[in-house]
Amino acid sequence: MLSKFRDRKLVEKVTEKIKEESKGITLRIMHVCGTHEWTITHFGIRDLLPSNIEVVAGPGCPVCVTPGSEIDMIAELSMREGVTVTTFGDVIRVPGNRTSLSEAKARGGDVRLVYGIEEAVRIARQERNKEVVHFSIGFETTAPMAAVEILRGPPENFSIFSTHKLIPPAMEFLLKSGLSLDGFICPGHVSTIIGVKPYRGLAERYRKPMVVAGFEPLDVLLGILSIVRQVKGGGCGVDNEYTRAVREEGNVIALKAIGEVFEVADAWWRGIGSIESSGLRLRGRFEEFDASKKFGLVAPSADYMPEECGCGEVLKGLIKPEDCPLFGKECTPNHPIGPCMVSLEGTCSIIYKYRSLR
Ligand code: SF4
Repeated sequence: MLSKFRDRKLVEKVTEKIKEESKGITLRIMHVCGTHEWTITHFGIRDLLPSNIEVVAGPGCPVCVTPGSEIDMIAELSMREGVTVTTFGDVIRVPGNRTSLSEAKARGGDVRLVYGIEEAVRIARQERNKEVVHFSIGFETTAPMAAVEILRGPPENFSIFSTHKLIPPAMEFLLKSGLSLDGFICPGHVSTIIGVKPYRGLAERYRKPMVVAGFEPLDVLLGILSIVRQVKGGGCGVDNEYTRAVREEGNVIALKAIGEVFEVADAWWRGIGSIESSGLRLRGRFEEFDASKKFGLVAPSADYMPEECGCGEVLKGLIKPEDCPLFGKECTPNHPIGPCMVSLEGTCSIIYKYRSLR
């Protein structure tokens, strides 16, 4: 079924439409999803577009925007006697401000990779003599899993260090900052949870057309065509081109679980700064599972990037990865300097991986 979304003839047809219908306008469109960047780069979509349309990546990689100071805190926590830190694969290599989880592990810290939070809870049940802390990272897509585990009632030696972040406030932050953008391709995975609704107010307030798109080449191209048509027609709505997965109201069960367990708080985005109401922290009634309370971990009020690292600009779509002076020289996937070169969803790592195809 998915093959039709990669059909060459259809792709050519939609590309032609984009060229034809965008004549006379110049567009700068931002997406905020690592998987969209993967699709765009892997399938060479930028090369198919006319020169008057530019698609830039925004802060779509949760690992990349996790503050270095939070990575330091959790890495140092893993070195405490009796503490086990669990996390997902990508996170372990991300450099913090002072250290990383892989460095802590090499120095004897108990850091374990898990596929999901339920595995972390299982470890806590099996090893009751340990305090198991799950580094809970991700956008709205992973927050429901964390919420469900908390609602299920994990053992008392389990807690999470929540660094979950919300995408629409980050989009609003970028729009408010006056970034030159003509529209957004809204993230497909996040939208399966939050639906289309949260973007509607944004599109209207900032008069910017938006589209929810999936992850096949045709999905992305249809998304771009939707923005072209909206701009041409003077519209600023939110089209849903990903109706096979995204509903207007989102996943109401997942949203309910998130709302029961988490409350919205300001959050620090690495390379970007503090964004109002863009994070999720555990509600007071679940504080026994809140690692920041249990271990006195304080949320960052500042953060910094390595010297000369352009991740901040990359995450805001101000520069392309290749414009960073460290790209492909000091900074490579084997020796990452900035977070965007580590994660599979990081723009620099994606561009680096596929640059020979371009
Ligand atoms: S090349 Fe490395 S240092 Fe430069 S922006 Fe990308 S991740 Fe950051």
